[in-house]
Amino acid sequence: MGKSIRYTDRNHEPMLPPQERNKTFREYALGFSVSIALDEAKRCLFCKDADKRCIKGCPVNVDIPGFIRKITEGDLIGAYRKIIETDPFPSICGRVCPQERQCEGSCILYYDTVRGKKNKGLPVSIGALEKFVGDFVRVSGIEIYEELKEPTGKKVAIIGAGPAGLACAYDLLKWGHEVHIYEALQKAGGVMLYGIPPARLDREVLEWEISRLEKMGVKFFFGYVVGRTISLRELLESYDAVFLSVGAGRGSLGIKGDHLVGVYSAIEVLTRTNLMRAWDFPQASTPVNLGRRTVIIGGGFTAVDCAITALRLGIETHIVYRRTRETSSARDEEWDHIKEEGAVIHWLTQPIEIIGDEGGRVTGVKCIKMQLGEPDESGRPKPVPVPNSEHIIECDSVIFAIGQKPNPIAYDGFEGLELTKWGTVKVDEQFRTSIPGLFAGGDVVNGGDTVVRAVSHGRKAAKAIDEYLMKEVRR
Ligand code: FAD
Repeated sequence: MGKSIRYTDRNHEPMLPPQERNKTFREYALGFSVSIALDEAKRCLFCKDADKRCIKGCPVNVDIPGFIRKITEGDLIGAYRKIIETDPFPSICGRVCPQERQCEGSCILYYDTVRGKKNKGLPVSIGALEKFVGDFVRVSGIEIYEELKEPTGKKVAIIGAGPAGLACAYDLLKWGHEVHIYEALQKAGGVMLYGIPPARLDREVLEWEISRLEKMGVKFFFGYVVGRTISLRELLESYDAVFLSVGAGRGSLGIKGDHLVGVYSAIEVLTRTNLMRAWDFPQASTPVNLGRRTVIIGGGFTAVDCAITALRLGIETHIVYRRTRETSSARDEEWDHIKEEGAVIHWLTQPIEIIGDEGGRVTGVKCIKMQLGEPDESGRPKPVPVPNSEHIIECDSVIFAIGQKPNPIAYDGFEGLELTKWGTVKVDEQFRTSIPGLFAGGDVVNGGDTVVRAVSHGRKAAKAIDEYLMKEVRR
């Protein structure tokens, strides 16, 4: 087969059909078989300058050609070892990373298509290959751990068991430090556990990747709400360093009528469903009552995950977003998926008021149509209202999937800790806060980004913490 044909020949993961997947919380992307993975791996050109392309596009700089080459050689354990050199969570990242904006967006097969150069086609399915490698190792029951250095006698406390905290713990442990993670919930994972629906991230996969850390020696303290159960001051006094990675899990409401019965924050709906199994009510004890029709406000990952959830609960699902699909932060393929599953998406539509009945229950959302104007400070065209375009979308519930902010319980009022004007924790390039020995990373620093960006923060902070601790040791 000629090369020009192979370029266009990207393999796509098989999926459950839309009319089946919108009825189940089971994962709908079914993964590559061995033969498809081999075929896809062979599409890679193993560019000599991959460090300027796919590797650079990955926030943790996975050696992508390196692990793909191992797949072509039939060495899947070798491929796994290559990935975990820089990313301890191949199966998670293979599933949830927005690869089209990261590694795959920098693949030469895609890159040159965009620039109209000679290679016409679609990028290598790097995400699906990473998922394949991680899943292969998990289901084969092979346990692969990295070598741990001699114990240094230093102890680090990590606050929050999301991807930033977990990644930081992984590296610190490898370098010989004792690591204790304090987590408010009863399980680890952060947003990956309570936010992202199992339809996109199977919980067995999540638990397996986290269990590797536990087996390597990370100690978890669940049910510890730092700032309530134990204070930040106590942790700083009992440990040699502390890493703050509490995420940005506080939702915000903020339009007229948001006090009405039937108004939810996205995190409440997702936590009730994903963590407390509201979909299994009354067998599980926590319900979520969205009525017959729900309106979700927002255009990012969170809005899409609320739609995935509401559709599976059998609810007519509408999304209103004031911008366009092109300027939204959710993944393109996910907009396609929820549309196929029956969600109604109202682009360029701004909610202005939630309407209720005399009993104080939601009956609809008043919206206005928008059009794109001049670019705003983010460089995106600013949506401006279309005169006389007000209209009401009738509904029984409204879910706010916008404006996530850090929940400051862990550090509220801590003297000397500098915050930014957005309420995120201020750090320098080494993830040091204004308090000696206190480092921070992930969403609590960047206000909300991606899983792999949180992993990258966790790893960079681990390096800075290690340097800080070892300097102390040498003194
Ligand atoms: P988190 O994941 O938020 O973890 C913070 C942890 O700290 C939590 O476990 C929390 O319980 C704990 N904690 C908080 N306060 C305290 C306290 N006081 N004491 C002890 N523990 C505390 N990114 C992607 O790449 N792909 C996606 O598909 C995607 N989907 C998303 C869907 C949703 C619904 C949301 C909200 C985000 C999504 N993101 C996605 C973004 C991504 O999940 C986050 O950027 C990432 O999880 C941030 O990691 P983190 O470790 O900083 O914080």
